[in-house]
Amino acid sequence: MSLRNRIAFYYTVTSAFLIAIVFTILYFMVQSIVYKQFDEEINSEVSEIFSDAHVTSKDFTSFSRFKNFIDDKEVNYRETKHEEKGTAKVDTEFIQLVDNNGLVINKSANLARNFLAFIPAQTKTIYINSSINNSMIRQGQLPLLNKKGIIKGYIIVAVPLKNAVIVLHDLQNVFLFSFPGITLTLFIVTRLIAGKSIAPIKKVIATAEKMTQTNLSQRIELPHHHDELYRLSATINALLDRMQDAFQREKQFTADASHELKTPLAVVKGTLEVLVRKPREKEQYEYKIQFCLLELNRMARLIDQLLMLARYESNKMNPHIEAVWLRSLLETVTVRLHPIALEKEIGFKINGIEKAAVAADPAMLEMILENILSNAIKYSPDGSAITITVEQKMRTLICSISDQGIGIPEEKLHAVFERFYRVDESRNSSTGGFGLGLSIVKRLADLQKIKVGVTSAKNQGTTFALTFPAT
Ligand code: ADP
Repeated sequence: MSLRNRIAFYYTVTSAFLIAIVFTILYFMVQSIVYKQFDEEINSEVSEIFSDAHVTSKDFTSFSRFKNFIDDKEVNYRETKHEEKGTAKVDTEFIQLVDNNGLVINKSANLARNFLAFIPAQTKTIYINSSINNSMIRQGQLPLLNKKGIIKGYIIVAVPLKNAVIVLHDLQNVFLFSFPGITLTLFIVTRLIAGKSIAPIKKVIATAEKMTQTNLSQRIELPHHHDELYRLSATINALLDRMQDAFQREKQFTADASHELKTPLAVVKGTLEVLVRKPREKEQYEYKIQFCLLELNRMARLIDQLLMLARYESNKMNPHIEAVWLRSLLETVTVRLHPIALEKEIGFKINGIEKAAVAADPAMLEMILENILSNAIKYSPDGSAITITVEQKMRTLICSISDQGIGIPEEKLHAVFERFYRVDESRNSSTGGFGLGLSIVKRLADLQKIKVGVTSAKNQGTTFALTFPAT
């Protein structure tokens, strides 16, 4: 069943149920009002009989007074109404006197050969529906008590229900026949409204169907009203934005990676092709092979970095956080980088807290420090100094690495952590970087909840600050 039909169906079933309840209550209310009227009519008739017969229902002595009275009434009926022989005329009230056992003592002449129904052993007045000659009547049965409160008999008074029955019957018919009509109309109208309300969903489906991995530019038209469907459409659009962005970055990454790999490969290929064209001196062979090895090392480094990023993107990197002595880790890294620093006569200075433990993955933190420090060496002039400071601020530990290098222009600072981002090509041609180091630093730091910040002044130096989570 479609959503539209389902909404209409549930709504109609609930409404139909409520309408049925309302109709039933209405019907029974009207019925009880109608019967009450008849019961009052019966009561006043009974009181009239009692006052005419000069008795009350609680000092009943004998049937004779009633008997005579009813006989008198009979005379009255004969005189005033045209009694048909053998059949009761159902357009006036009927009276019947019965004894304790239901034996008829007397009855009004209009009953002819008929009797009013008797319900034995009733101590109170009761009102029931019954029939005479297939005509509905309402009858009241009142016990007649003597002074001691013992029931001596009953007086039964009945009035015809003819018009009331027709009214009630008509009312019932109106309810019964209008009910399916109302239900059907309700279903059709609700289905129409539901269809209109969920029309934006169809637009969402149509747009989504048109979308493919290569064509993510389509967006869902936002509905007019700011309701749940508006939010759904806006959320899907935002999701599409993110997906498109991710696909775009993925494409860009693949393009950049293959470009970076192609260049050294072409250089190596070209060098070797030239080399094999004719026999050469031993020194020349050695020189060219050294050159090729350098290029191949660069490629190997790039592939390592790419693999690292790929592992990060596929969430395969799980940091094993433990307490790491920052100072000793810094010393390990600086010792390892010492030969490269020495080439440029750059010295390391480590200041601040000596015994500082941070919560980090030791291998990942080492990689972070190595990347930042090797950059500091790469982008610093010969003979400059690199200062590392470990300090405590509030409950967090901060490790700052400052160099006196070429710096990064303010407007480019925000982009240094992006993949394949290099501040300018010229500075990299000499250093041979791919623009991946800091993006790896950022990702590894994020994994360990370490904040990385950078401040820089052109030609004065750059400071990278690692803020470790409070332990
Ligand atoms: P690369 O391998 O090219 O160095 P990185 O991701 O490590 O790539 O750095 C991105 C860019 O940020 C570099 O191209 C460089 O221009 C700039 N950069 C990084 N560290 C420093 C630094 N200490 N001083 C000046 N520039 C830096």
